[in-house]
Amino acid sequence: MKTYKYKIYNQSNTIRIGNLLDDMWQVHEYFHKWQDQRYKDGLSYANYAAMCQHVKDLKRSTHPHWQSLPSQAIQAELERIDNAYQRFFKKLGGKPHIKPRHKFKSVTLKQTGYKLTNNRITLTFRKSDKGKWRFDKVPYTFHKHRQWHGSISRITIKRDTCGNYWLCITTSYTDFRPLPATGKSVGADFGMKDAYLTLSTGEKIQHRQPLKQSLDKLRSLNKELSRKMKGSNRWWWCVRQLARLYRKIANQRNDFHWQLASKLCKKFDTIVLETLNLEGMKRLWGRKVSDLAFYQFVEILKYKCQKHKRLFKQVGQWTATTKPCSDCGYHNETLTLKDRQWRCPACGSHHDRDINAAINILRAGIAVP
Ligand SMILES: [Zn+2]
Repeated sequence: MKTYKYKIYNQSNTIRIGNLLDDMWQVHEYFHKWQDQRYKDGLSYANYAAMCQHVKDLKRSTHPHWQSLPSQAIQAELERIDNAYQRFFKKLGGKPHIKPRHKFKSVTLKQTGYKLTNNRITLTFRKSDKGKWRFDKVPYTFHKHRQWHGSISRITIKRDTCGNYWLCITTSYTDFRPLPATGKSVGADFGMKDAYLTLSTGEKIQHRQPLKQSLDKLRSLNKELSRKMKGSNRWWWCVRQLARLYRKIANQRNDFHWQLASKLCKKFDTIVLETLNLEGMKRLWGRKVSDLAFYQFVEILKYKCQKHKRLFKQVGQWTATTKPCSDCGYHNETLTLKDRQWRCPACGSHHDRDINAAINILRAGIAVP
């Protein structure tokens, strides 16, 4: 499965998507409350089919205006609620709860209710016309920066905190474009201090730390926000500005990660990483770990390796990588976090802490079948 994301241009009728989302939120709210009430009344849980039936009854009796909503979207929403409850019953997740309206962000359509032609999507709304429901087709243009491949399994329309709308097209396509073999392997060591990634070839890659770069701006915007009256126009402007800045930071980080993963895949056949203890690191370093986003990078690299037919390996968390000398194997037990450079007492070779670790990781990774 692959998802393509396109931005829907702002046009006079994009507000209708927003209204649709808000209306769908009402369905969401109604059914959570309904299930709660059923539980309080001592009734059993109503499954997906029962909820569908209930929607039908509601449309006929108290909620005729729900007929204006695309039925596929309602079904998808009921499926989501049902999934959440099923997970809850299996003790996989917490109790499902009602989202606040502004956090209700997406609506999914499976086969019907939309039509895609070139860079236009036509959504089918319904409107009441002299007591009768008629279809109302509204075309939207999106920025089609690339062609999607494969058959479309569903589309999702999203609203982000900045007030923009996005079209996500999920297809059955698996991207597989093997790159020519280079015959090289690399081990990489994540670092907090000197470099983001140290390769066993001796190369050090720095992280731009977008959150750190924008920290001053974030602080001043947050201060500005606190001075405004909550709910006023200026306050909302500030909220949007903050959301835009956060989106920019996330984009910068994403861009860096994808480019780095691409670069590594082009150069090397086998890539070995260590398994990270992220919880422990977060406790030690705090915000910086979140900014560097190691986990996200590992996920991206895994995907890239699969796409380009590269071998991806991870050595276990308890493999000794820092202390052994990469030339003779002598365990230097006196090494502390402060020592960035050290000389091996057994063979006398000079080591950079991170490069030595990267070489050890590569060796451990190759030894694993
Ligand atoms: Zn040595």
